[in-house]
Amino acid sequence: MALKTGLASAALMALAAAGCASAPGGAGPAGVEAAGGETARGARQRLRADVAWLADDAREGREAGTPGFDAAAEYVAGRMAEIGLSPGGDNGTYMQDVPLLAYSQDSNGGGTLEVRGVPEPGAFTRGESYMVGASSFGENVVVDEEVVFAGFGFVSPAHGRDDYAGLDVDGKIVALLPGAPKFLNSEERAHYGNTQRDRASERGAVGIITLTTPDRERVRSWESRVEQAAASRSVSMRWLEDGGQAFTTYGNIQAAASMGDEGAAALFAGQEMEWAEISALADSEQGDVPGFALDGVTARIAIESRHQRIDSHNVIGVVEGRDPELKGEYVVLTAHLDHVGVRQSVLEDDDQIFNGAMDNASGIASMLEAARVLAADPPRRSVMFIALTAEEKGLIGSDYFARDPTVAKEAVVANINLDMPIVTYEFTDLIAFGAERSTMFSAVEAAANARGLALSPDPQPEQNFFTRSDHYSFVKQGCRRSSCGRDSPMAARRRTRSG
Ligand SMILES: [Zn+2]
Repeated sequence: MALKTGLASAALMALAAAGCASAPGGAGPAGVEAAGGETARGARQRLRADVAWLADDAREGREAGTPGFDAAAEYVAGRMAEIGLSPGGDNGTYMQDVPLLAYSQDSNGGGTLEVRGVPEPGAFTRGESYMVGASSFGENVVVDEEVVFAGFGFVSPAHGRDDYAGLDVDGKIVALLPGAPKFLNSEERAHYGNTQRDRASERGAVGIITLTTPDRERVRSWESRVEQAAASRSVSMRWLEDGGQAFTTYGNIQAAASMGDEGAAALFAGQEMEWAEISALADSEQGDVPGFALDGVTARIAIESRHQRIDSHNVIGVVEGRDPELKGEYVVLTAHLDHVGVRQSVLEDDDQIFNGAMDNASGIASMLEAARVLAADPPRRSVMFIALTAEEKGLIGSDYFARDPTVAKEAVVANINLDMPIVTYEFTDLIAFGAERSTMFSAVEAAANARGLALSPDPQPEQNFFTRSDHYSFVKQGCRRSSCGRDSPMAARRRTRSG
């Protein structure tokens, strides 16, 4: 495996962002410049050893909150100490405690959705026409309310759009098209899609039904989503606030369900606009679909969830900057340490351990190698290296750190995130998600140019990669950031599997 390529990207990006005097253009630190000789061989061995240890069956897929993850966290802390990083966690340790709520569907089958006031109430079958997710709101949740359709729930004064205009959703269930309109650029579209629930919650909605448009169906079919949900005994997580309540940005939303094409057709049957017309409009460039209260329709969503409090950790090490003034600023290099654990594989003859060598042991190993290079020759700014927990649960560990860092929040000036630096392809280009809209772009460009790498645009905007890894947690807190992964259609496809 051409492991040195992943290393070069991580180290170079970090050098550029940390204000290394010799990057770009000049002679970089020996560790990077000498890649090709003894140093590269050493780097390859270290990267291979780290990936092999982290992805070993004994780690059982490193799901947050499991002994396999905890062992991996101890291993990374040990490696940080060996490299000579200072502890950057709580109380002089490498660990930042991240208290979590784990919640999942109750084992007796999960939630139900009943719809009344439609011509065919019998058309709603769990696992066929609809799915209901576990709720962090409470262990037993029932919402039984009127249903209001609000298009994409897209609100942007800059674009002159408010899909909620004239609608009263207070105390009601909102039916929404998935994601955001097509005319938005890749990052905006991903961001608006990601914050749909926030806007519904702000307006008082208590439940959400997400519909499936043909556009969404092309990204991933409803059948395969249902199949995947049935196969995985998936556990969701949120971090816990000091008072013990689960943190969420959409606190009013108690229950959420999603519906396939058939369910949506039954829901809108006989209404002022039927589903065929709505879904055709949703697929248009503007996606400007007028909302309306569904005449006489109410829905009852009932969910039994199992709640459990668990503890996990972000693992944090620091290289102090050499500039007396700039060392108070931190460039944060992140990679998630967790993967999805043990679950039923959809492949025949496969075992049930999702080892996560690519996703994201490769990112952790690359980050540690970048730390080794930078520790030997510190840049002007300080660099913080974080192996994050619970990325696979919705960017939870990074959200916890970004909102409450172990250094002053203003001191965090940039984030570079490594998620699946794919090392099985020739390293020719870099896709820096979000860099174009950050002040880091010129540094990213210069670093790429210095290595003869092309900067490529997001090849699959419909996959919403911008909001699907930990850099997005820093974006939400207003930090400059960039996620660099080497990419290829295969890499992108792999990413869709594990998000
Ligand atoms: Zn990942």
